[in-house]
Amino acid sequence: MQKQKIILFDFDGVIVDGIDEYWHSSVLACKGYLLSKELSSNQDYNLDVSEIFSYIRPWVKYGWEMVLITHEIIKKTNPLNNKNKKNFLKNYTISCQKILEKNSWESTNLQTCLDNARQYQISNDFDKWINLHRPYTDVINFIRKAERSGFKIGIITTKKKIFTSKILEKFHIFPELIYGYESGTKVEILTNLVTKYEIKCFIEDRRKTLIEIVRNPQTKDIKCFLADWGYLKDTDRLELPKKVKLIKLKDLRNLLANSI
Ligand SMILES: [Mg+2]
Repeated sequence: MQKQKIILFDFDGVIVDGIDEYWHSSVLACKGYLLSKELSSNQDYNLDVSEIFSYIRPWVKYGWEMVLITHEIIKKTNPLNNKNKKNFLKNYTISCQKILEKNSWESTNLQTCLDNARQYQISNDFDKWINLHRPYTDVINFIRKAERSGFKIGIITTKKKIFTSKILEKFHIFPELIYGYESGTKVEILTNLVTKYEIKCFIEDRRKTLIEIVRNPQTKDIKCFLADWGYLKDTDRLELPKKVKLIKLKDLRNLLANSI
C-alpha cells in the first residue's frame, strides 16, 4: 500500500515567532514558580523582551533552558548581560549545566515551572497569552495549500503538545499529528514516522537538530530544510552539510510545485 505523504514542521521559529511569549512566560515562571532567592520581590512581570534573551534564543533547545536564561538575566547580582554573554555562550550546554548544579535545580522542574506559568495565563487571560504569538503568515498559507494538495501535516516541537494545539487552533490549523517534548527527541519521533509515512520534508530552524537527523541511519534520507526566517545564529547558514538546505519564506511558494 502506498504511504501517505506528509510534510513536517518544527513549531517555534518556523510556524510562529513566540519570542515574546517565551520571555513573558519565563519571567512569570521565575517569579511565580521558581521562587529563587536571587530575584528581587518587586520585579515587574511585564518587561519588554530582553535583547540578551533574543540574542541567546538560537542556542536554545528546550523550554526549560529559557527559564534558566531568564533567571540569569533578571537576577539581582552578576546578571547575564552584553558584557558576559559571549563567555556564557562559549560553551552553552556546560554553562546551563553549571547553573542547574549551582542552584540544585532539575531541568524537569524548570520545565514544570514554565508549563505552570503557561497554564496560569491560559486559565486567566487566554486572549492575552495567545496574542503573544506571531504567526509567519507565509508558512500558515503554505500549510493550508499543502493540505488542499493532499499532504498530511505534522508538527514536531519541544513545546508541550497541548500548548502547541491551542496556538494552532487560533490560526485555524488542525494538524493530525502533533508531537511535543513528551514524545521523545525529534530523531526518535522521525525514526518512528519514517516507517509509516512518505516524509516529503522537515522544516526546522535549529541547525544542530537537522544535522543529527541527516547523520542518523534511520532518518538520513529525510529532506531537511533550515528555516531562514527562524532563530538562527549568524554562522548557521554557512557551510551547511549537503543534505540540509537553507529555505527562505519566498521559496515556500514553489516548494509543492518542485515536487519536494
Ligand atoms: Mg524552532
